[in-house]
Amino acid sequence: SSSGHYVGRFAPSPTGPLHAGSLVAALASWLDARAHQGQWLIRIEDIDPPRCQVGADQEILRQLAACGLHSDAPVVWQSQRHALYEQALQQLQNCQLAYPCGCTRKDIEAAWQAQGLTHERHVERPYPGTCRSGLHGKPARAWRFALEQQIADLHQYSPRALSNQAQAATQTIAIGQQQLECNAPVLHWLDRRLGAQQQNVQTSVGDFVLRRADGLWAYQLAVVVDDANQGITDVVRGEDLADNTPRQLLLQHALGLPQPRYLHTPLVFMESGEKLSKQHGAPAVDVSQPLRALSDAAIQLGLPQAPMTAPVHDESPASALPLALSFWVNCWRQTYNIAP
Ligand code: GLU
Repeated sequence: SSSGHYVGRFAPSPTGPLHAGSLVAALASWLDARAHQGQWLIRIEDIDPPRCQVGADQEILRQLAACGLHSDAPVVWQSQRHALYEQALQQLQNCQLAYPCGCTRKDIEAAWQAQGLTHERHVERPYPGTCRSGLHGKPARAWRFALEQQIADLHQYSPRALSNQAQAATQTIAIGQQQLECNAPVLHWLDRRLGAQQQNVQTSVGDFVLRRADGLWAYQLAVVVDDANQGITDVVRGEDLADNTPRQLLLQHALGLPQPRYLHTPLVFMESGEKLSKQHGAPAVDVSQPLRALSDAAIQLGLPQAPMTAPVHDESPASALPLALSFWVNCWRQTYNIAP
């Protein structure tokens, strides 16, 4: 391939069967991998047992297979990879990039109120950093990423330390007469579909959780460790996850891991305007007519109808599925300027 080495993935959480929205992400990641003549992997993100539904993993794999989407390597389950996450946390602890936190939700709320600060934009307030300087006699509950330490580390390098995708921006702030050169924790990165993106990780999330108070691994840590461990070069996933990207870029940098490229796909909305999701009771994708299900997903991705699927027949010949898929691979190449 002229585009070089490519490994992509689809990483569903088995909280229920695939719905129309998750099929869009699955199809997009598969098309991007095929368009690059790369590999496509499936990873089951079952690190949060209370949220998982028994048998949903097998159901998701069955739905994907029915749509002709097969993993190019054995499927991995995050629930079997705790040792990798433990090792990563250890590495962060060793360089003071992780610290234990004893705060409950109530403590965090109280800390915000004590500072007279309100934060309307987020349901979840950014962590105010209470335990950054120590546990204040409280028992350790969670482990958090030391954002300030990371920013300070970055400051020692050139602004290019975070690669050209994600740079720690340098800001000049005037305090009285003094002009302070201040390394604002604003991360800039490039999304292949959304273009230039930025986020101040400090004010939007703060020192985020790596290992939860209930002992479970945080999505941010697990996803970064697994993407690197599986050699993922390109992350293609739903736009609802786009604002997780800067946290993941920071973690990758802190762990000395390579940074994949990112492409976030459009979300599917219900008539009510709400995002299609399992919480909102999105129905499982009906894969008894895989071409119909895939055509709907392709439309959400802005791709044209595959010629042989219009009109979609209830009983399409077996060859119609691979033909439609390769038609969409070509469309995808054109949309994202991928050399054939
Ligand atoms: N497991 C996550 C989800 O289903 C996706 C993770 C990712 O693609 O980075 O929402």
